[in-house]
Amino acid sequence: MSCLLVHTPLSLACRRPTIPLCAAARNPLGAVRPATSIGKTGGRLVILGSGWAGLKLLGGINTKDYEVLMIAPRNHFVFTPLLASTSVGTLEFRTITEPVRHHNRKALYHQAWCDSIDLTTRSLTCMPALPDHTQPFTLSYDKLVIAVGAYSNTFGIPGVEQHGFFLKEISHAQRVRARIIECFEMASEPNCSEDDQWKLLSFAVVGGGPTGVEFSAELHDFIKDDLRRLYPSLINKAQITVYDVAEKILGSFDDALADYATQKFAREGIKIRTKTFIRKVEKNKLVLTDGTEIPFGVLVWATGLTATPLIRNLSPAAHSSSHRLVTDDYLRVLDLDGTPIPDVYACGDCATIKGNELPATAQVASQQGIWLRKHLNKVPRNEMGQPMAYIGGWKAIMETPNESKLPKGIRGYLAWLAWRSAYLYKSVSARNMVLIPITW
Ligand SMILES: Cc1cc2nc3c(=O)[nH]c(=O)nc-3n(C[C@H](O)[C@H](O)[C@H](O)COP(=O)(O)OP(=O)(O)OC[C@H]3O[C@@H](n4cnc5c(N)ncnc54)[C@H](O)[C@@H]3O)c2cc1C
Repeated sequence: MSCLLVHTPLSLACRRPTIPLCAAARNPLGAVRPATSIGKTGGRLVILGSGWAGLKLLGGINTKDYEVLMIAPRNHFVFTPLLASTSVGTLEFRTITEPVRHHNRKALYHQAWCDSIDLTTRSLTCMPALPDHTQPFTLSYDKLVIAVGAYSNTFGIPGVEQHGFFLKEISHAQRVRARIIECFEMASEPNCSEDDQWKLLSFAVVGGGPTGVEFSAELHDFIKDDLRRLYPSLINKAQITVYDVAEKILGSFDDALADYATQKFAREGIKIRTKTFIRKVEKNKLVLTDGTEIPFGVLVWATGLTATPLIRNLSPAAHSSSHRLVTDDYLRVLDLDGTPIPDVYACGDCATIKGNELPATAQVASQQGIWLRKHLNKVPRNEMGQPMAYIGGWKAIMETPNESKLPKGIRGYLAWLAWRSAYLYKSVSARNMVLIPITW
């Protein structure tokens, strides 16, 4: 891998431009540094990922001290808690995205995947995430923040990627929405048998965690409130089923909340099949380990997370049992001996703090991004600051803290209202704060 620094403007992302030496300086390892880094005492700060952690870090990072460069295949931030709402049309897609370039106009951005990190030469190899741009490029960093999130976990079950939908990106939500409507249209065809109608209108959600449960609830409301009017003769054939290997859904939540959700689903006609093990997925059917075949029209797969190849292959770095990067309290990535790797930080879903495994949530990722931004802004002034202290978790989404005056585990409409208001408040831009209530 080349350690030669190449500063690659987006328009040239497919080539490796050479930088005239008169316009360049050298970083501590001797790699050429472009003019944009000169005069920046903190050098070049590269942020990998435009998700919750990356974006919170980007907004407000001191661009006087750093040349800030974000690398991510997605040129926008996605407000994931409302993704399920967009997949059924409750919200429009644009209301839950924010362009990265709006977030910090003094930072640079390249739409690319980081394919590998060389910790010795402090260089990255990246592949443009743009049509017809297949030429990798390399660049160096003085400080690196890894915030690449995680992939949906298929547990190696064959057929999931080919026949199911994930729910992590806007493109996923768009495909889910299109497929739901397609199934209703196919079931409306004059030649569609009643048996096929039942199959097409079987909606399978695998994963009884928060994402699967929320999507099921949104889908139920979509069918009951909107599609009922458009396809009145079909509506009684629509069936949503949530599958999970665990004994109950929402296992990471307080028992009372999990039971409440289970009872609510039962009343609304959403089936829950726990202790169900899927062996493989074929076109339009789940095959269970006992050989049972279950047809579906739409399959949404929401069974948790797994590390990306970039994280798995990062060496020499310590990994947790769930393959997340292990950091210290200052979010510095640790090597195999437990020593911080110089100038390399990790946060969000791809990382975990040593001895303090936090849930993979937007709350954790955004708190870490904000903390890291404040910390990095102090570093060029030789200030160390306090280590990261985290408050909250999955449970904090709908549970109230013990010391709160509100009843513990508020439920129903009150929880919904509190949850929605909190996310509306956090929904990044003023434009979306206005658009979300309008389009809801
Ligand atoms: C449908 C859904 C609903 C959710 N609801 C909630 C909720 O209500 N509350 C809550 O707290 N949490 C929720 N979460 C979880 C929350 O979204 C995640 O914990 C959060 O997104 C993690 O933030 P992150 O910055 O670590 O990663 P992400 O937000 O996943 O961002 C990762 C970024 O890295 C980029 N990337 C990936 N690979 C590379 C690479 N090789 N090189 C460069 N860039 C790369 C991606 O394109 C993306 O920009 C939800 C998640 C989903 C999917």
